[in-house]
Amino acid sequence: MGRALIIGCGGVAGVAIHKCCQNSAVFEEIMIASRTKAKCDALKEKLDGKTDTKITTAQVNADNKDEVVALIKSYQPDLVMNIALPYQDLTIMEACLACKVNYMDTANYEPENIDDPAWRAVYEKRCQKEGFSAYFDYSWQWAYRKKFEEAGITALLGSGFDPGVTQAYCAYALKHEFDTIESIDILDCNGGDHGYAFATNFNPEINLREVSAPGSYWENGHWVEVPAMSIKRAYHFDQVGEKDMYLLHHEEIESLAKNIPGVKRIRFFMTFGQSYLDHMRCLEDVGMLSTTPVNYEGKEIVPIQFLKALLPDPAGLGPRTTGKTNIGCIFTGKKDGKDKTYYLYNVCDHQECYKEVGSQAISYTTGVPAMVGAMMLLTGKWNKAGVFTVEEFDPDPYMEALNKWGLPWQESHHPVLVD
Ligand code: NDP
Repeated sequence: MGRALIIGCGGVAGVAIHKCCQNSAVFEEIMIASRTKAKCDALKEKLDGKTDTKITTAQVNADNKDEVVALIKSYQPDLVMNIALPYQDLTIMEACLACKVNYMDTANYEPENIDDPAWRAVYEKRCQKEGFSAYFDYSWQWAYRKKFEEAGITALLGSGFDPGVTQAYCAYALKHEFDTIESIDILDCNGGDHGYAFATNFNPEINLREVSAPGSYWENGHWVEVPAMSIKRAYHFDQVGEKDMYLLHHEEIESLAKNIPGVKRIRFFMTFGQSYLDHMRCLEDVGMLSTTPVNYEGKEIVPIQFLKALLPDPAGLGPRTTGKTNIGCIFTGKKDGKDKTYYLYNVCDHQECYKEVGSQAISYTTGVPAMVGAMMLLTGKWNKAGVFTVEEFDPDPYMEALNKWGLPWQESHHPVLVD
């Protein structure tokens, strides 16, 4: 049915590529292109002969728009799947626009260099206007709406689990369960254990920037920002048990606040163990999470990049991670004039993921929806021109595909609420 150019070949892309290869009727041909071509070649070698999908590989520096344009022109894909890093979102979108080809990604734009004065000026204005200070936000990509509309192409933003599936859950709840949704609590629980004292489950730089930022939530039409990890709750998760979770800023809150009419409050909680928090605070206190280069013996070093080199590669955590994840959304609202509560969630087992595609469940729960989002675009089930987040499309085919391709969802009509 189609041909996809997949940029990136890390933990998440590895899963998405496995899933595309299980779904050869839709993904007839894929090209895996990344900064380190050897990783693309190694994955191709692993998959060749076990799939009907025709795989080719290439080297690309996706920070360079012209390189991406040249690659798109030579491969002529129907879709570009950006599963590299958020730093590359804008260059890849620009290249898609130049070549009039559909685009998708799994995380919204943030700059690699947050000391860049031009970016900083826009960022500081946004912090003041919007009231949250995370380094990432949708404004950079939403700025492309008109251009994508005029070019007649689609950009699907953030088709991972959170963002991604969580927004499909919101659209599904609104379509099938509620007349109005009043509150959404997104709960992301990783009950897995990899046996290391400290490791991150996806790209360490992106992950540590996210979780060390101030927390924030949406309430009554505006953002409320609080110090990092200052709001803590305990919750009993199905098939995982009781865990401490902390309120974080998260990107899908921004789009859901715009797209779920009348919603009064949206919060995001993620579980962390005490050891993770202790390590993170210590690294932060000594400056290891800094993105500002320091001069060490005549060489410029970015502390968080050096830390990444020391930490275990998230893509390699699969064999040693046991336990389950449980990620979902709890809704309150009204149906037929009556108060109602509803919980949609997925439980995923780290070792089952490892057996199937050689990864842990965090890469799996992100890589499957990346494939599913791409499938929506390639099959034309989602086909409006412009720049959209997941909740702006019909959730039904996406939800059906999640059940089929490895992330079945469960529901509860009487969930315990978070206070
Ligand atoms: P990894 O660091 O494992 O992989 C990133 C890949 O991108 C690597 O193959 C890397 O190449 C490649 N890459 C980096 N820079 C460039 C460049 N300039 N040009 C070409 N390729 C490049 O990250 P993850 O797989 O853990 O994460 C991938 C994405 O998924 C991130 O954007 C992350 O934020 C997002 N994510 C989304 C989630 C969600 O639920 N929505 C959850 C988890 C992650 P190299 O091998 O050379 O380093």
